[in-house]
Amino acid sequence: MEQNQPLKRVALITGASRGIGRAISISLAAEGMNVCINYAGNEAAALKTKALCEEASPDITALTVQADISSEEGCHTLIQSALDAFGRIDVLINNAGITQDNLLVRMDTQQFDRVIALNLRGAFLCCQAVTRTMMKQRYGRIINISSIVGLHGNAGQVNYAASKAGLIGLTKSIAKELASRNITANAIAPGFIETDMSAAMTDAAKAATLAQIPCGREGLPSDVAEAVRFLASEKASYITGQVLGVDGGMGI
Ligand code: NAP
Repeated sequence: MEQNQPLKRVALITGASRGIGRAISISLAAEGMNVCINYAGNEAAALKTKALCEEASPDITALTVQADISSEEGCHTLIQSALDAFGRIDVLINNAGITQDNLLVRMDTQQFDRVIALNLRGAFLCCQAVTRTMMKQRYGRIINISSIVGLHGNAGQVNYAASKAGLIGLTKSIAKELASRNITANAIAPGFIETDMSAAMTDAAKAATLAQIPCGREGLPSDVAEAVRFLASEKASYITGQVLGVDGGMGI
């Protein structure tokens, strides 16, 4: 880096090719951060996110990295790719997530394990892999995308709810471990957000969910991204171990 050049923060966002992850990437790029955009298989969507980030802030660098966050190797490849490209990671957003819904009595162990492996174990592995770097930097922001379902539970989603509740425990513990190193860890609990994930719901389930939202509308990915933008900023240095609902009042 040239002398007197202001430090460019680096944000790594898992599951950033679509939906909430894409919106977060664009909003952090707009803040002037270099972004590492992770995806599982949808390269075209990841390249679209990259183009939108560069459009939001032409002087940043956006890198796309294919990696399966449910595997240990995938997490390490991802973190190493970001470090090779940028030399640092300031912000980690654990956003990649899936659902595999079924009632408890019908859920097989593979459905349970797949959801935990990505939503919870993947987030743990990514946190662990960035910690040394963040400790050396004496700076870090970790934001885990949980869900209102992790706070309140949901019939048909024991696996998903357990993964999202687990993320909250993970976040609070990391916050306690790393606060003295100037690393914060917070969780966001979105409600019902308009993405491919929520598009899979039946019309009846959507209507029933909408009826529970005091704001009277589905959330947008940008609603979540705005909360992330603040928690990822230097201004949020005294906020750690918190769970912020972005749910239109659904969790009240
Ligand atoms: P989405 O539209 O389905 O997008 C999922 C993203 O995760 C995609 O970028 C996908 O990549 C990536 N992904 C899937 N499997 C992966 C893997 N094994 N490794 C790496 N990346 C993987 O989801 P979304 O609605 O934006 O949700 C984002 C997060 O918010 C999730 O953690 C979700 O649980 C949480 N959330 C969502 C809602 C909601 O209403 N939408 C509510 C509460 C919480 P590809 O494009 O390559 O497949």
